[in-house]
Amino acid sequence: MNPRDIPPEAFHASGAEVQALDFGYVRSPDQDHATPAQHPVVVIGAGPVGLSLAIDLAQRGQRVVVLDNDHKLSIGSRAICFAKRTLEIWDRLGVGQRMVDKGVSWNLGKVFLKDEQLYEFNLLPEEGHERPAFINLQQYYAEAYLVERALQLPGIDIRWHNKVTAVQSRDGGALLSIDTPDGAYQIDAQWLVACDGARSPTRQMLGLESKGRIFQDRFLIADVKLADEANFPTERWFWFDPPFHPNQSVLLHRQPDNVWRIDFQLGWDADPEEEKKPENIIPRVKALLGADAQFELDWASVYTFACLRMDQFVHGRVVFAGDSAHGVSPFGARGANSGVQDAENLAWKLDWVLKGRASPALVATYGPEREYAADENLCNSTRATDFITPKSEVSRLFRDAALHLAREHAFARRIVNSGRLSVPATLYASPLSTPDTDAFVGTQVPGAVLLDAPLTKQGQPTWLLRELGPDFTLLVFGPAPAWTRDLPGVKVLQIGIDVTDHQARAAQRLDALPGTAYLVRPDQHVCARWRTPTEAAVRSALAHATAAAL
Ligand SMILES: Cc1cc2nc3c(=O)[nH]c(=O)nc-3n(C[C@H](O)[C@H](O)[C@H](O)COP(=O)(O)OP(=O)(O)OC[C@H]3O[C@@H](n4cnc5c(N)ncnc54)[C@H](O)[C@@H]3O)c2cc1C
Repeated sequence: MNPRDIPPEAFHASGAEVQALDFGYVRSPDQDHATPAQHPVVVIGAGPVGLSLAIDLAQRGQRVVVLDNDHKLSIGSRAICFAKRTLEIWDRLGVGQRMVDKGVSWNLGKVFLKDEQLYEFNLLPEEGHERPAFINLQQYYAEAYLVERALQLPGIDIRWHNKVTAVQSRDGGALLSIDTPDGAYQIDAQWLVACDGARSPTRQMLGLESKGRIFQDRFLIADVKLADEANFPTERWFWFDPPFHPNQSVLLHRQPDNVWRIDFQLGWDADPEEEKKPENIIPRVKALLGADAQFELDWASVYTFACLRMDQFVHGRVVFAGDSAHGVSPFGARGANSGVQDAENLAWKLDWVLKGRASPALVATYGPEREYAADENLCNSTRATDFITPKSEVSRLFRDAALHLAREHAFARRIVNSGRLSVPATLYASPLSTPDTDAFVGTQVPGAVLLDAPLTKQGQPTWLLRELGPDFTLLVFGPAPAWTRDLPGVKVLQIGIDVTDHQARAAQRLDALPGTAYLVRPDQHVCARWRTPTEAAVRSALAHATAAAL
């Protein structure tokens, strides 16, 4: 079926029906061109990253071709934990509420040693944020809602059954060879973005590498659908050495549709084919849930993992995003979450360059910004993996000592690492930020993602992030100076006039006084701030933030 003819209700169907959606092949007029058709942006890969990027670009008025060799959504639940920042980005893309409505929201995690709870942690301990710390949602649902949104936007041309077989990078773009069910064709991309996953054929075709560590351990994922409501609350539960799975770790999470994700650490010697057999999975699940538990297996997989990244994400006009650029272990839920942040970092930069508002130097800044973020994710993911799967007797002794101390001592809880969960990177050394010249306290330094806060507008509730413009926003606490009206492409948001900070949370989170101003990028990162802004300072920060001087 032509994907544009799929009825909207098909995207709201059950998990099995959504996974069965089959996006038909549609012949493109490009296939009849004598010479390769030219496109401003081509994205390879309709996973969560490629789709988010395409939607962001299309919402900015760009035309995007998305090529995918497959014709289905992700098989199996795969990524389930989507972070607050990802939801905020998806809000901008028109799908955040959809994800939250279907997903299971959670903020609390608990850590157990054997059958005793060591401690619990709250990932969002304060009020006044629109989105929870996390939702759990099967990746196929997330992709379904993104595909549905993409199909609503006239600028996006998703071509399923289009396998990229060769990429030739050259000045001014890249030439792609594509295989389809009725033959091969070529297209020319002014900009090519490879969102083609961890194995990234594009990376290989260009002779590039992703380097890092492969971890010698195996994990079994069992998604089980319970017949009745389970006794577990909607929290992340992590056990070290539980009685039902001795000497290993176990992670339990709730998903929509009364499905529970259980990750069992197996050790390196486990035979993946044997472990995947239902007769071997079911006793493990019963040991956790109880011998009488009624459930059916929804999906199972045995995985190993690696922490890898490419040295550079930008290669001329070819840019890598998501798993193609970097790969992390699942502990900390950083894979898709960081990939969606890549997409949002890149989208506005490509848009500005394609509109001639900035030079390609702006796209080049995607490299250092997201490579830095990838390093932070890799560091967290590697540490968690080393803690969960100690590789030497000394590491295990250290790990076990930390676990025993954590029961009583807060300092040891900082050492215990069952996966520090995804938070957006603060781009401290961003070339697009203007260093502070005034004194501020708190976390909202240039390079940080703006924190959300509840506001009212004409008496109605709203949120700070929702009130930002699609391009730059100058937030001013109190009346904005008259010259701010002449700033090109900048939305001026006056707190106290256009919107009311009725709980004073925006002022508190941004350490704001009357007159304080924050310049916020299109991807909602702070890039400059002042106690009393001047026109020259703001214009200079804008030039800086669009790489005009690079
Ligand atoms: C078990 C497991 C649990 C996970 N849990 C989490 C989690 O809780 N939270 C989280 O954030 N992340 C998690 N992840 C990671 C997450 O699944 C990935 O980071 C995410 O899917 C990456 O998205 P992507 O769009 O970069 O790539 P992918 O989702 O891999 O998409 C790549 C796309 O490219 C297409 N493609 C490949 N080659 C070609 C070609 N030659 N031509 C055209 N198209 C091509 C593929 O068909 C595919 O659609 C988990 C992963 C696993 C395996």
